[in-house]
Amino acid sequence: MKKKDGILILTLLLVAVLSWATIQGIHLWQGRQIPKSGETGEDYSQAKEKDKTGRIRITVGNHVLGEYSLGMDQTIQIGETNVCEIKDGKAVMTQAECPDHVCMMMSPIDSPYDMIVCLPNQVVIEGLPENQNDEETALDGVS
Ligand SMILES: [Zn+2]
Repeated sequence: MKKKDGILILTLLLVAVLSWATIQGIHLWQGRQIPKSGETGEDYSQAKEKDKTGRIRITVGNHVLGEYSLGMDQTIQIGETNVCEIKDGKAVMTQAECPDHVCMMMSPIDSPYDMIVCLPNQVVIEGLPENQNDEETALDGVS
């Protein structure tokens, strides 16, 4: 009787260990099956989405202050007079030291050739075309 009990316990233990090992094996196998590249692929497509959003150029007088992506929220100080804010893919003049404040009342821009102008301060915020060649042609036309 005692020997049989021992065999039974050993058998149960063996089964338990085998089941545990099998479960661990399945977990390992499943872990390998989860493609980590899938997540990277999503990130990549999101980054691509952001690339699709346009850019703006801020000009003060004849001086180009810079070009900014509408895909990134940011606040841009324009000289000592104006502040442009990019938010949710749109650019808007949030602060301006000009008598009329017309520029601050202009609707946010998010498309090529859209424009916010602060005449007294000679500040121009303009949407840039997606095609670089068009832009260069336009610049050549000006100069
Ligand atoms: Zn203004």
